[in-house]
Amino acid sequence: MNGRSLTITYKVFGNDLSGTFSQLDTRHANFNDGSIFMYIVNHKSDPVKLVINPPSTWRIINGRMEQTDQSEWGFPNWDIMIDTPTEIAPDWGREESQVEGKKYYVMIHSFGDEGGKRAALVRDIEKIVRSETALWGAPEFDSYTFLLHFAADDRSGDGMEHLTSTQIIEPGALAEPGVYESTMGTVAHEFFHVWNVKRLRPIEFGPWDFTRPANTRSLWIAEGLTNYYGHLMMKRAGIWDESRFLRRESETINNIENAPGSRLMSAEESSLAAPFIDRAPHVQLTNLANTSFSYYPKGELLGLVLDLLNRGRTNGKKSLDDVMRRMYDEFYLNSPNATYYLRGRGYRSEEFQRVVSEVAGIDLNDFFTRHVRSVDVPPYDEALSYVGLRLVRQPAREHYSGITVDVWTPGGAIIGNVTNGSR
Ligand SMILES: [Zn+2]
Ligand SMILES: [Zn+2]
Repeated sequence: MNGRSLTITYKVFGNDLSGTFSQLDTRHANFNDGSIFMYIVNHKSDPVKLVINPPSTWRIINGRMEQTDQSEWGFPNWDIMIDTPTEIAPDWGREESQVEGKKYYVMIHSFGDEGGKRAALVRDIEKIVRSETALWGAPEFDSYTFLLHFAADDRSGDGMEHLTSTQIIEPGALAEPGVYESTMGTVAHEFFHVWNVKRLRPIEFGPWDFTRPANTRSLWIAEGLTNYYGHLMMKRAGIWDESRFLRRESETINNIENAPGSRLMSAEESSLAAPFIDRAPHVQLTNLANTSFSYYPKGELLGLVLDLLNRGRTNGKKSLDDVMRRMYDEFYLNSPNATYYLRGRGYRSEEFQRVVSEVAGIDLNDFFTRHVRSVDVPPYDEALSYVGLRLVRQPAREHYSGITVDVWTPGGAIIGNVTNGSR
């Protein structure tokens, strides 16, 4: 140390191909910066420089490439740097397309057979980009990169949103049945996050305090509405037909309304509990299967119902699309920057309620009290009636349901969970 600079060397272990951690091995270096780059306490807001020295035949790609052989980046702050997942390998492929003046790159690194599906996949991704851009308007970037991995290990699977890129990891090979479909579902979801979550964001989402959990009551909006729109965009892009979309929503209704946790925990409580239940490992056995549920499908259904109530009560003049655009305008585009991190400011859950009510022209306080902050079943019948649909309720027919097996052993099986009320 000479008073001006300090060199710190540290060792990082990375063997997870995911949207959160990093994998550094002989095939590639795929890193999510937050899992490997330390920060200096109280200096996260300072500009930071990243220099990568890859093996000579390996090429670098991330969502902040200004030239193809770039190996140095300057970031305005540490939070923006860790928003830039990076892939370095000798053999990834890249496709390029242009939508309304913006460049889109699809990076594909396959560890299995692609079955000749790459060209179709890139075309379908472009359809999703067009459909989502049609809702929100031109995105606020010059280029965006889809970082796709087909891990072919039946284990690694994830999707993570970033400001100018996304990391998507499929556990199968592209040639395998269902993998193409699953990839497109994740693409539709993650690209929607370009606006909802990355820019239009809950107030707790950035800059982050990594010394404590980022508790928010709004994950059902951030992730749940994104789930709803992910499915809706598959339909708007022409990848799903209408019956496929409706079948998917009815499956979600079936799962959520038959989950015992739906009558014990609200959408806001599920959001708040995320750091403890969302992929959290538990040393002890838990009864969470009976007492909790995921804010993803729950928020998806609240999105469906709010969309249809909006359409119905305004005679088709407004929809959830108008709500999302209003939120984006008010909190991202038109609010003064609240922090060093990003444009605009984050919203509070009450502000979402206010904007939905204003767009629909009705007081939704009762709706939010009963269906968002408490556990009452959403008004599916009223909502679906506005578009000529009906929810058909059928009694359960299976003799044995609700038992999950944790481990099969030579002598029998170990029961993992028994769902309350099942038979
Ligand atoms: Zn790779
Ligand atoms: Zn998401």
